[in-house]
Amino acid sequence: MERTLAIVKPDAVARGKIGEIMRRFEEAGLRISALKMVRLNKRQAEEFYHVHRARPFFDSLTTFMASGPVAVLVLEGEAAISTVRTIMGATDPARASPGTIRRDLGTSIEQNAVHGSDSRESAGFEVSYFFRGAETFDYDRVDRRGGG
Ligand code: ATP
Ligand code: MG
Repeated sequence: MERTLAIVKPDAVARGKIGEIMRRFEEAGLRISALKMVRLNKRQAEEFYHVHRARPFFDSLTTFMASGPVAVLVLEGEAAISTVRTIMGATDPARASPGTIRRDLGTSIEQNAVHGSDSRESAGFEVSYFFRGAETFDYDRVDRRGGG
C-alpha cells in the first residue's frame, strides 16, 4: 500500500469540482484516508512548493495556490502515487490525455485543477505538511458488485 497527497486547487474549488475530482479518485479504487479544506497563505504555499523556488513560475504559482481555499486529500492504494498522476494527466491541460482530470477540468498550465505527489519522498513530506497521524484513517473499501 502506498499513500499520496492530492490537492483540489483553487480554480477547481471555485468551479464546484471538489466532488467530481474526489469521485474520480474513489472510482479508481483509491481510499480517501484523510481530507480537509484549507486556505494557504503565500508563505505556506511557498513552503509547500519549495522544490520549485528557482522556477520562473514560482511566484505566480504560489500566489495562485494562496488565492482561495483548497481541498486536501490523502489517497491510499496499490501504486497510489502513479495511479493519481495518471488520473490527473499531464501538467498542461492542453497536452493531457482525454479523460484525465486536467484535460477535462484544467484551464491553463498553472490553473490545472489538481496536484499530486510525484514520489514517495515528496508524498511523505506533503502528507505530513497537512495531516497529523490521528487525522488519517484506515478502513476497508467494500465494493459491491454493480453497486458502483
Ligand atoms: P503538481 O506538482 O501541482 O502536481 P506537476 O507535478 O504536474 O504538478 P510541476 O512541474 O510539479 O507539475 O509544477 C507544479 C505546478 O506549477 C503545476 O501543477 C502548475 O500549476 C505550475 N506550473 C508548472 N509549469 C508551469 C509553467 N510553465 N507556467 C506556469 N505554471 C506552471
Ligand atoms: Mg509536481
